[in-house]
Amino acid sequence: MCNTVKTQRLFDLDSYRFDFYATVLSCVANGDGKFTVVLDKTAFFPEGGGQRCDLGVLGAADVLDVQEKLGVICHTVSAPLDEGAEVYGQINADTRFVRMQNHSGEHIISGLVHKHFGYNNVGFHLSDDEMYFDFDGYLDRAALNMIEDEANAIVWRNLPVTAYYPSDNELAGLEYRSKLDLTENVRIVQIGDCDKCACCAPHVKSTGEIGMIKILDAIKYKGGTRVHALCGRWALEDYRARYTAISAMSSRMSVKQHEVLDRFEHLLSELDSKRAEIATLNQKIIDFTINSINRGEKNLCFFFDELDAISIRKLLNRAVLKCTGICGVFSGNDTDGYQFVIGRGSSDIDLKAYASEICTALLASGGGSSEMQQGRAKADKQTILDFFKKL
Ligand SMILES: [Zn+2]
Repeated sequence: MCNTVKTQRLFDLDSYRFDFYATVLSCVANGDGKFTVVLDKTAFFPEGGGQRCDLGVLGAADVLDVQEKLGVICHTVSAPLDEGAEVYGQINADTRFVRMQNHSGEHIISGLVHKHFGYNNVGFHLSDDEMYFDFDGYLDRAALNMIEDEANAIVWRNLPVTAYYPSDNELAGLEYRSKLDLTENVRIVQIGDCDKCACCAPHVKSTGEIGMIKILDAIKYKGGTRVHALCGRWALEDYRARYTAISAMSSRMSVKQHEVLDRFEHLLSELDSKRAEIATLNQKIIDFTINSINRGEKNLCFFFDELDAISIRKLLNRAVLKCTGICGVFSGNDTDGYQFVIGRGSSDIDLKAYASEICTALLASGGGSSEMQQGRAKADKQTILDFFKKL
C-alpha cells in the first residue's frame, strides 16, 4: 500500500467522465519497471465485482492495471509521475462505454430472471470482449428467449438508470438485489421501475443507450445456469461477424441464408455416404492386393497414392501373414512424401532393432514397437524399393 487516503471516485458521480485532472499523492517503483500511483481522485474504475479495470493514460504513462485496496485506488503505470504534480488522465472511453452497455444489460436480465424465477445472480464476468453471468437455478432456452424479449422491451422504453447511496434508514426499507451481505456504503443502481441492485460499477444513464441485448448460449453450471450475453456495440459486432459468415456460406452453397442449415445437413449426409463408398472401395483394394500375393514371399512393399491410415493398417495386418520377412505399406507420392507402416512376417524379427536403419534409409520420422514401425518418409519410391530389396 502506497497511500492511505481514500481516493475520490469520479466514476461514481459521473460514468461519462472519461478524462480528468488529479494530483499525484504518491508514486512508488514496483521493481519491475512499473510504478504504483495513487491520486487524490480518479475516473479509472478499478477491477472488481467480476469487471475488468479501465485502462488509458496518466500524463505520459500508460495505465496498465487499476486495483482498489481499502478505498485507495492504485494505478499501475509504465513510467514514474512526480509526486505533488497535477496530472491529466484519460481512460479508454470506447471500452468503458461498451462495458457500461453490457453491465447495465446484465442488470436488466438478472432483474427479470429474479422477478420471474426467483433465481439470484451468483457470478459475473465482464472483460474485453465477453460477458457471462451465473444464476443459481436452471433456465431453458424458452425461458431465456422470454427474458431476452422483455429485456429489449426495457431498452426500448428508454428508462432512466440512476446510482445513489441511500441512508441506513432508506436502505432498511429498500428491496434490492445484492450478491453480498453489505450493510454500509451500499450503492444502489436503479433501472426505472424494473430493478434495484447493489453495484459499484459505472452504468449508462438511460436504457436506450444499451442498444440491444442478445442472450447467446447458456450452459448448466454448478447446479444453475451460466449465461453468455452481449449488449450494445458487442452485440452489433457479433451480429456483423455472424451475418458475414452465413452470407458467405449461403453464397458458396447457392441457397438463401435461412436455407443454409438444411443445405449443410444435406451436405453432411452426402459426405457420410461418400465416406462409406470410399471405405468399400478401400476394402476392395485391400482384398485385391492380398489375393495377388503369393504366400511365402520374403519382403513385401506396397505403394498407394491415397490410402487412409485405417486401410493401411488393415492391409498390413493381413499382408504380414503372407510373408516371412518385412512388409511395408506406403501411401503418398515422391513430392509430398509417404505415410507408412512397416510390420514383420516372423516373430524372430525385432523391428525396433531396424528402427534407426529405416529412419536413415527412408529419411523417415516415426517409431513404434518390435512388431510395427510407423511414420512419414521423405525418400522417393525407388529408394524405398531398393531398401526393401536389400533387406
Ligand atoms: Zn452490477
